[in-house]
Amino acid sequence: MQTIGIDIGGTSIKGIVIDQQGQIAQEVKLPTEASLGKDHILEHVKSVIEQLLNNYPEIQAIGIGTAGRVDVLTGHIVYATDNLPGWHGFHVKDWAEAQFNRRTVVDNDANTALLGEHWLGAGRGYSNLTMITLGTGVGGANMVRSELYRGAHWNGGEYGHVIFVPHGRPCNCGFQGCIEQYISGTALVRSAREASQTSYESGHEVLADYVKGVPVIVEVVEEFIRNIAIVLHNIHIGMNPDAILIGGGIVEAKAVWWQKLEMVLASMGSTVTVLPALLGNQAGSIGAARYAMLGSGVQV
Ligand code: BGC
Ligand code: ZN
Repeated sequence: MQTIGIDIGGTSIKGIVIDQQGQIAQEVKLPTEASLGKDHILEHVKSVIEQLLNNYPEIQAIGIGTAGRVDVLTGHIVYATDNLPGWHGFHVKDWAEAQFNRRTVVDNDANTALLGEHWLGAGRGYSNLTMITLGTGVGGANMVRSELYRGAHWNGGEYGHVIFVPHGRPCNCGFQGCIEQYISGTALVRSAREASQTSYESGHEVLADYVKGVPVIVEVVEEFIRNIAIVLHNIHIGMNPDAILIGGGIVEAKAVWWQKLEMVLASMGSTVTVLPALLGNQAGSIGAARYAMLGSGVQV
């Protein structure tokens, strides 16, 4: 049985067709272009799903992972920041079922990424896992005894908005000093710009200068890594999972910074097991498709 998995993030919308053995049949990706607003985002989601359904019309179920806190019973967004404008309160499941006439399940994007990694990636064989995703925002997910733990109000595992620095950088969620403002890809670029007066466009550009040994950037990246290490330590103390997975765009460049992270953790005396996600930026869409496979999809 094949299903469709969709991942709606702050930077791109990814779609996949995959079967129960994990064989990927098709992939489609379009940019999110959040500044153009919700209708534009929905046009792109629609276009991704239509492209997949055109080739696989027999597919009966769609899974959607999206940024924001999702009530998985109703499939609507309980809370979202302006990383996805107009998303707050949106009934994703109702919209998708009306558009495509396929049974649709919806969950938070970090939750689906963890589901994907648990199924086919770095989380295979573990039953208690936490994942953080470092991208446009910072996503988080907890799995307890092989089931996602979403909390009483659907924000279980939202580590991105745990306050990290009192009176720190303002966050899109309305609070100040959230983790997202210090360890996301966006935060890395911001810190590098502020420290160097250089207009970096992406985390990869920053990391390229880190590799070159540009002194001010070495400082920025080392601070960034120290912050990640502290977040990992805190999760380890709070949840104590078998392992913490790190996903998101920045993990693609892990060759550049992972060893440093391990050194910092060792120097802190931390015993946390940290693993890089293996499915790259496909984790969210693969996990969303998996969620659609799991029957009603509700395992709260
Ligand atoms: C959102 C989360 C989401 C994460 C990654 C955060 O800003 O609040 O719900 O999982 O970004 O997309
Ligand atoms: Zn926040």
